[in-house]
Amino acid sequence: MEASSIEQITRMVIQAIGSHEEKDTGFIVPIGVSARHVHLTQEHVEVLFGPGYQLTKKKDLMGGQFASNETVTIVGLKLRAIENVRILGPVRKASQVEVSATDAIKLGMNVPVRESGDIKGSAAVALVGPKGALYLKEGCIVAMRHIHMSPKDAEAAGVKDGDIVSVKADNERGTIFNHVKIRVDESFTLEMHIDTDEANAAQIKTGNTVTIIK
Ligand SMILES: [Zn+2]
Repeated sequence: MEASSIEQITRMVIQAIGSHEEKDTGFIVPIGVSARHVHLTQEHVEVLFGPGYQLTKKKDLMGGQFASNETVTIVGLKLRAIENVRILGPVRKASQVEVSATDAIKLGMNVPVRESGDIKGSAAVALVGPKGALYLKEGCIVAMRHIHMSPKDAEAAGVKDGDIVSVKADNERGTIFNHVKIRVDESFTLEMHIDTDEANAAQIKTGNTVTIIK
């Protein structure tokens, strides 16, 4: 091999190493682990808790949402149930139940991975509250992992709303998550939401961080 082509190859290798290092010093995102939870319409709140009932706030969450004091039991088609599932407020235009893949097995249900709000054709589920019960013919999903960020964070990270990225957890397990949806809104603070299955398998807790590797 000629000296000039060796030089050229060396330069290419150095460049490749350089760009790899760049990926490793990516944008850092704190994790929020989402336990199973329910979003309800006001109509459904009243079916489960009685006429005129209003959800009460237990804890503020990001983006104007809150964990309510109220919980329900979710029931799968084989009458297997999970009790004490937290309701998140405020009320929404459509009711939605978010469970982990392990919960779905526990409930004996096939539950698709979906982005929040995309419930068409998702799994059927029943809800039981202190004053009544409710059957949803669709609305049960395993939430697609996603990163909430402000427009400023998005600019700093070099991403935009709707992008799909990969992130890496720098811990003992070193898990890489692909198919992570970027969600940008003024009301969002920087946080990646994963469910309890993803968190447990990767040994990640709320407050740990991951790095966007794109
Ligand atoms: Zn989220």
